[in-house]
Amino acid sequence: MNEIKILVVEDDRSISSLIATTLKINRYSYVTASTGQEAVSLCASHLPDLILLDLGLPDIDGIEVIRTIRTWSRAVIIIISARGEDSDKITALDAGADDYLTKPFSIDELLARIRAAQRRMQYITGTEPESALFTNGDLVIDYTSRSVTVAGREVHLTAIEYKLLTLLAQNAGKVLTHSYIIDRIWGGGVETDIVSLRVYMTSLRKKLHAASPSGSLIQTHIGVGYQMLRA
Ligand code: CA
Repeated sequence: MNEIKILVVEDDRSISSLIATTLKINRYSYVTASTGQEAVSLCASHLPDLILLDLGLPDIDGIEVIRTIRTWSRAVIIIISARGEDSDKITALDAGADDYLTKPFSIDELLARIRAAQRRMQYITGTEPESALFTNGDLVIDYTSRSVTVAGREVHLTAIEYKLLTLLAQNAGKVLTHSYIIDRIWGGGVETDIVSLRVYMTSLRKKLHAASPSGSLIQTHIGVGYQMLRA
């Protein structure tokens, strides 16, 4: 048995069963999902090493699936999609995908990409066990349910506040500059200034602080940016 675990995300039954059969014959262990929601939840419960992901899914867009999974998982993500345009490839790679295969693809090419991914994985050393839960002192972020608690109390965040918090959590201990944060949250082309960022950040810190005074681990570096301290 090949020792890696693969998650196959594909809503087209014929393609999904073709991939599944190929993996079975080649002795890979795998699970399959046919929707984005199912993909995210299987990724959290099975912690696959490699994900073969279709971009056109019936519920959420594959790009959004990549972004969600990437908040906690380092699995290799290979996109398998009918969309051949370069812009889709770039968006998928920027969102955190590792490789891209365009439909129709050959079985040999699929297997070669999987083997290449396996070789790259062998070079990755000293990795911490990944988890869908982030814990830092009183703060717990559950990436699958997108819920945040501080000292056991649920904190209700807006979409932007949640993104800000997870960005800081993924970089806990590091100071992130204003421009880095703005670029990561709003993307390069969007006009968002430091004043707006400060407003969102103040609101986020207030909510965390209200749940527990020790819960706000976010430090302001005046004129530079923000940092989540490690508790
Ligand atoms: Ca599809």
